[in-house]
Parts: sequence; structure tokens; C-alpha cells
Amino acid sequence: MPKKTVKDVELKDKRAFTRVDFNVPRAQDGSISDDTKIRAALPTISYLLQQGAAVILASHLGRPKGQVQEDLRLKAVAERLEELLGQKVVYVGEVTGPKVTRAAEELKPGQVMLLENVRFHPGETKNDPELAKIYAALADIFVSDAFGTAHRAHASNVGIAAYLPAVAGFLMEKEITNLSRILHDPQKPVVAIVGGSKTADKIGVLTKFLQLADTILLGGGMANTFLAAKAYRLGRSLVEKDQLQQAAAIMETAEKHGVRLCLPVDATVAYDLHEAKGARNVSVDAVPADMMVVDIGEETRKLYAAYIREAGTVVWNGPLGVFETDAFARGTIAIAQAVAGSDAFSVIGGGDVVAAVEKAGVAGKISHLSTGGGATLEFWEGKELPGIAVIQNL
Ligand code: ADP
Ligand code: MG
Repeated sequence: MPKKTVKDVELKDKRAFTRVDFNVPRAQDGSISDDTKIRAALPTISYLLQQGAAVILASHLGRPKGQVQEDLRLKAVAERLEELLGQKVVYVGEVTGPKVTRAAEELKPGQVMLLENVRFHPGETKNDPELAKIYAALADIFVSDAFGTAHRAHASNVGIAAYLPAVAGFLMEKEITNLSRILHDPQKPVVAIVGGSKTADKIGVLTKFLQLADTILLGGGMANTFLAAKAYRLGRSLVEKDQLQQAAAIMETAEKHGVRLCLPVDATVAYDLHEAKGARNVSVDAVPADMMVVDIGEETRKLYAAYIREAGTVVWNGPLGVFETDAFARGTIAIAQAVAGSDAFSVIGGGDVVAAVEKAGVAGKISHLSTGGGATLEFWEGKELPGIAVIQNL
């Protein structure tokens, strides 16, 4: 990787301001329902501590919009981190102020503190240089490990780098290395799978995949829009009418570039997104007017799996059906199993599809599950992410 990492700098007796992504999913009662993101940051934190650094951690949680929101405090995160690290985590409950400054000054090599949710401060998302300076004054070095926010230029992940030397943590390094492998000389044939519901957000990635992939397999709400652009009648299915022209243009480009762009040949249809009653498998040219497409069909799963078996590289964003409803998760699960069973280098990115693959129980057999949603998509589009740009080059 062309960027400096924590391995390239002296850490002994240094204070390391470390931006992590502790934006964990929470249950109704506010408790942490999944601590994957906290665990993902442990290699970097442990390394910094072993090397004799004092670690000042910063993260956001949810969208408090520059105000203190009691249910978005990081107290529970600090407690969970304490359990996982097996050592005390100093939690001051504030983002800035004399308490924070004192705690940072008193922090000894090998000790950890966690700032309060950085988005409680109105300057954070505005990338306020004054706030960035306050963060920088706490430390000697900036460690960037929050890949999931790398597409945003905020004070704690971008602004701070104007005042401190910036290096990548291990999670950031892993993301950059694995996501880049898709873009630069991937093992052929390359199979790209694109699903999900937000066609408009994915046109950029699809356009990139048209340059990289040999085969593109479409599913989810996205595929509905493409089918509709080919004049299929899809009943009450989600179809993004304002994206029909884009879809048609993409199909045209695929044809020109000789990319095989596959649409579902059959689908699971239902009366409701959340209700399996009456659901059945139909050909895409026989969707009843009062039903909606909720998953790729059985024949499509087989066709898609056959391409995946032959792939050298698989890249996947967006679930292929309404996986939140168990009965409509089958297409996504079948494809997840196909990817897990193939010898291809496989990278899956996107909040929902990663959750679906974890639900399918095959996460361990995927080469790389990206921790980013928007950041991953923008990386694949080929954009320079501000949170990566600020990390020092090697
Ligand atoms: P990701 O987070 O992986 O990038 P998206 O956010 O684009 O994926 O899309 C995920 C959403 O797409 C899920 O909530 C899922 O229910 C929805 N979805 C998938 N297939 C369909 C469909 N056929 N009709 C409506 N919504 C769908
Ligand atoms: Mg999503």
C-alpha cells in the first residue's frame, strides 16, 4: 500500500489520536446489538498499546447533528471495549474541554481513553479547523482507522491531519489493499453482483464495473428498474421511474463493451414486502398486476451461481431481495453460498448486503467483507476519499 501505516512510525511514548468507527448497531433499549465494529478496531488499538503509545480514541455514533443526545453517548461502547481489551478505558463523557485535556495529559503509555461522540460537537461534520486544532493538541500523531467515514471530510478524520502526521491503522490498510485488488488487475473472469434498492446511488459503481467486469449479475430493486426499462410489466414492484433512462444507457454501454449484463429470468413475487403469504415463483414476464418482485427466482439463482463458480474475482454490492423478511432472503443466501463456495477472490461491500451475508452464516468464507457502505461505493467508483487522501504517502 502506498500509504504510511502505524508500522512506519515511532510510537513509543507518543499520544496517538486514533479515529475509529464505533458506529455500532443498537437494540431498542440502546444496548449494543453487534460489536463487530469494535472488534475490527482491536488490532490497531492493541498494536499501539504494545508499542508504548497512549491511545486517545474518537468515533461518532448515529446522527446527533451537533448536539448532545443522551441515547447516543459512547459510554456503553467504552464498557464493551474495556471487556474486549481487558483493561480500563478512560471515558470522560465530553468531546472537548478541560476534563478531556486533563485526561489526555494524564494518560500514560499503554493506557486508553475514549472521547464522547464527536458528532455532539457542531464543528465535527463542518470540518471546523478550530475543532481539528483542539483534537490535534491532545496528541503527537493521528491514526486513521475509520474506513467507513473516509468519504466524509470531518474534523476528526480529515481536519486533524492538517496539524498532525497522519498514518493508517490496520483496518484502513486492509480495506485499501483489498478494495484496490478489485480495481487493479483483478483475476479474470470478474463477476460483479449488484442489488439493493438505490439505483441512483449505484450508477457510479455500475459504470465502473462496466469497465472491469466480464459479467454483471443484477438483482434486488435495482433489477426491477432495468427490467422495467426493457418494458417488462412488474405489477406493484419497486421501480425507480426516474432511473429508467440511466438503466437503458447502462445496458447499451454493456452491449458496446461486450460485458455480459444479466437480469433475473424469474422472481419471487408477493403481495407485501414483509409478508410471505401467497408468495410464489414466476417468470419475469408473468408478474401479476397486484403483486411485487421481492427476490430473484429459483432459475436465476442457478444461472447466477454458475457464473460465480467460474469467476476469478467476485465483487458484490446490495442484497438481491428483501432479505429482512426471511422468506425473501433465499436468493441472497443462495448467492452468498455460491460466492463462499467459489475459489474466487471475493469482496462484498454495503451495509445491507454484508448484514445479509453474515445472516447466511458464510462470512468467514468471503475474502473480504468491507466495513464501509458509502465509502466502499465511492472507493470502487475510483473517487479519492478525503479520509484516505490525508494519510501520508510512503
Ligand atoms: P447495501 O446497503 O448493501 O448497499 P442497499 O441499501 O442499496 O444495499 O439496498 C438494501 C435494501 O434493498 C434492503 O432494505 C432490501 O430490502 C431492498 N431490496 C432488495 N430487493 C428489493 C426488491 N425486490 N424490492 C424492494 N426492495 C428491495
Ligand atoms: Mg444500505
